[in-house]
Amino acid sequence: MEFLCSKCSACCRNIIDLGLPHNGDGICLNLNKKTNECLIYETRPDICKVDRMFEKHFKSKMTKKEFFIKNTEACHQLIDREKLDNSYKIDIKEYN
Ligand code: SF4
Ligand code: SF4
Repeated sequence: MEFLCSKCSACCRNIIDLGLPHNGDGICLNLNKKTNECLIYETRPDICKVDRMFEKHFKSKMTKKEFFIKNTEACHQLIDREKLDNSYKIDIKEYN
């Protein structure tokens, strides 16, 4: 099973309290704001890797499907907060 990401970049624009670099606006300095791409994708920290976070911290608490759904629900909240188009929202049913 693969985590489904629409590459909306809402998570990378809301990193306050995650220990990643920003200029006080919550937008990660590693984000290319024009293309929504991570400039350090190959070496991005574990906090930015859903699979890695599952393996490290959540594997004993829930299934991978449950974890992915929780993350996608959080994505939806961030997409609303950023007032992005609803088309960026991954349909939870796609994990079935
Ligand atoms: S908020 Fe979710 S869907 Fe958007 S880029 Fe981040 S992980 Fe992907
Ligand atoms: S390091 Fe990359 S993936 Fe992580 S928040 Fe910054 S831009 Fe996003």
